[in-house]
Amino acid sequence: MKAVQTFTVVSRLPPELEPLRSIAMNLGWIADERAQELFRRIDHEQWEYVRDPAGMLAIENQSRLEALAADDEFTALAAQVHADLVRSLDSPRWFQDHHDGTLESVAYFSPEFGVAPGLPQYSGGLGVLAGDHLKAADALGLPLVGVGLFYHHGYFIQEVDDRGRQMARFPRLDADAMALEAVPDVQVTVDIAGVPVVATVWKANVGRIALYLLDTDNDHNDAEHRLITDRLYGGGQLERIRQEILLGVGGVRALDALGITPQVFHINEGHAGFLALERIRQAMVGAGLTFDEAAAVVRPGGVFTTHTPVPAGIDRFPAGLMEDHFSGWCREVGLPMDQLMALGHEPGNEPAHAPNDTFNMAVMSLRLSGATNAVSQLHGRVSREMFADVWPGVPTAEVPIGAVTNGVHAPSWTSQEMAAVFERVVGDDWPTATPEHWQALASLSNDELWAVRRALRQRLVTYVRRRLRRQELHRGLSESQVAWCDEALDPDILTLGFARRFATYKRAALLLGDPARLQALLCDPDRPVQLVLAGKAHPADLDGQNLIARVVRAAEELEVRHRLVFVEDYDIAVARMLVEGCDVWLNTPVRPMEACGTSGMKSVFNGGLNCSVLDGWWDECHDPTVGWAIASAEWQSDPVQRDAIEAVNTFNVLERQVVPLFHDRDDNAVPTRWLDMVRSSMSTLCPRIESTRMLRQYVGEYYEPAARRSAAMHADNNARALALVRWRRAIDRAWPSVAVVATDRTRVADDHGVTYVLDAEVVLGDLDPGDVQVQAVHGVVDPDDELRSPTVQAMAAVGPGSLPGRVRFELEVVFPHPGNFGFTVRVVPSHPDVPTYADLGHVAWAPAPTAQATQG
Ligand SMILES: *Cc1c(COP(=O)(O)O)cnc(C)c1O
Repeated sequence: MKAVQTFTVVSRLPPELEPLRSIAMNLGWIADERAQELFRRIDHEQWEYVRDPAGMLAIENQSRLEALAADDEFTALAAQVHADLVRSLDSPRWFQDHHDGTLESVAYFSPEFGVAPGLPQYSGGLGVLAGDHLKAADALGLPLVGVGLFYHHGYFIQEVDDRGRQMARFPRLDADAMALEAVPDVQVTVDIAGVPVVATVWKANVGRIALYLLDTDNDHNDAEHRLITDRLYGGGQLERIRQEILLGVGGVRALDALGITPQVFHINEGHAGFLALERIRQAMVGAGLTFDEAAAVVRPGGVFTTHTPVPAGIDRFPAGLMEDHFSGWCREVGLPMDQLMALGHEPGNEPAHAPNDTFNMAVMSLRLSGATNAVSQLHGRVSREMFADVWPGVPTAEVPIGAVTNGVHAPSWTSQEMAAVFERVVGDDWPTATPEHWQALASLSNDELWAVRRALRQRLVTYVRRRLRRQELHRGLSESQVAWCDEALDPDILTLGFARRFATYKRAALLLGDPARLQALLCDPDRPVQLVLAGKAHPADLDGQNLIARVVRAAEELEVRHRLVFVEDYDIAVARMLVEGCDVWLNTPVRPMEACGTSGMKSVFNGGLNCSVLDGWWDECHDPTVGWAIASAEWQSDPVQRDAIEAVNTFNVLERQVVPLFHDRDDNAVPTRWLDMVRSSMSTLCPRIESTRMLRQYVGEYYEPAARRSAAMHADNNARALALVRWRRAIDRAWPSVAVVATDRTRVADDHGVTYVLDAEVVLGDLDPGDVQVQAVHGVVDPDDELRSPTVQAMAAVGPGSLPGRVRFELEVVFPHPGNFGFTVRVVPSHPDVPTYADLGHVAWAPAPTAQATQG
């Protein structure tokens, strides 16, 4: 029979252990080795399995707690760790030294947060990244808060049966046994299709950073609406739009209720995009602005990060659902529904007969945010192409989507042993150290590095054996049938890891396409290899689940089962063990579908080496001294053929490069060249992939400019925003008559390279030269007269043109070397409060730009 209610009977904590509760209640423990030592002492095995201090304290048996309370050494350590925690919460950090008062407050909205194993509010890389964003904000002392939802059934627990079928269990989370505190007296009401829904707020502490999570499961709501926060990405589009309204609209209102007024609102993936509509509504209602004026005030403070390189991965809502949920908003702000729909309309990607049929959350977020970034350089290029149609007339390279490559919070992902090495060799502040400091790793001896690597591999093997045994027993095997698990894997052989969501594009089963070659690789008598895999497939993703089944069935084959292991229930705790212990981190996505990827970064911090397709972060970070590149066959359009070719490429790299290097030993059996590569990998990559590098980049390139522009727009009762809107109207009216009517060039001197004066005659209609910039776009042309990576330079107005109403513009350009060059001319609107012309929607190009090549 099934219980109708479940709850946790929380153990009674002896007063001597109160400091322990405070430590457990701040998720900052995850970066504090001594805090972890405390919980490890309570119960070593439990610790390794769950890594959840709050959960452990809640259900630890009473006599064990009493014993700990009587252990003076333990309570003294707890008191000390607690005192250090309290002190660290307001000690000055990087931001306190660095900031000039520009940036006062950032709110980071995300549909998921993966901070620690005991708060499973994530389903994959997006959430783990959001968690690391908060931890980096703590490390830097940034004034940032996180905003999300509290899902009562979070990330599912994965079990896999003997036929490889994934079963997903969704245990109900009990906030009382988690590192969450209820925020008293704060509740917000959000209109969900005409129903007022009340949300309460939980707070998690990540060091000094607060994470606020909204929850609709309370007595104010009917049964249906209590379920809005039931599951992470549960249900269909109706559940989804409700969750996104709660996150975006409810999140902004929760911050109001908490007395927090952020200057910068960071939308982490389109799911959080509705926050922009709520901010606009508030500006309209509060300051009596029109929609355009409110958008001009609100937009500069918005930062949008896109994470999806595939159009199919983007959140879209059908018009009917939008109408049900936003007709009230439209009435309140006085905007017709079709104009709201137009904000989420993606030109070029929807049928012409029904252009406003779907609402694209990413496109709305692009339009309503002052700045947008992708999450790696390659993903930036892909995103500029993917969203190019949102900026008609703007060349793809100038589409205003930048890139901040993701990073990982090293203290959360680095083994105790390697962290101790870094502390000694690089310095106490190794997680935030500069590239110069990381160079010190060159002095790390082979013996020490190899000893750490061996210890980490040994620990992984012990851990995997225990888990394997548990999962086999759970599948119904007897003790004698699982005895082999104690000898699965080998602590001394080359260990490859592959763990991530089992989304099909990540191709977890790539090597299984050639089982004979895989078996030969794994079971080579002289140079064997072992492979540990883990990962969950979304419960609705049947293809992903098929991949799991293939992997699990392959791992059951007697010949390879000692060398090929699938670890169930991948989560932050499993990830940590795998990235610590594996020698090589394998990654085989279909390029360029991996926006960034972060698990390979975690491996670097533990001395693992990456062997990966050049996708995501690896595309910009790989060089042959730090790891291996697997060639992708993007030219092959047949996906089956492509997989086959890339599987061969992967085997080739493993067999010819990875395995031989690992077995190239000196007289003491130490793989010296391998360790050279590990040192290079750590010293060059660590400072580039740590989350504080990422966050400093967000501060300098996104948050501070956004705060500055936002403050300017708000100043003097929004005066500049209002002026900007008036100016835009004038531009919109005048633009149809703006044109480039003639271009020419004159060769003037041959002293240094070849100098030309480019000139153009331009019609500006009612506009002043100061309203626009006339630009020469020049550079090398290819055989089709296409300008490749051209230079854009402003031309100067030099006087009236050859006919009334025309203005002449000139620019002197030195062409540096012989070759085929060309140029074209364009007019774009220009205003000091608009960072890029692309946002204004107007470009007048010289008609039919033909190449004006110049030889020598
Ligand atoms: C790091 C991490 C991810 C992201 O890994 P990718 O390499 O980006 O796929 C996903 N899930 C968990 C639990 C992680 O720790």
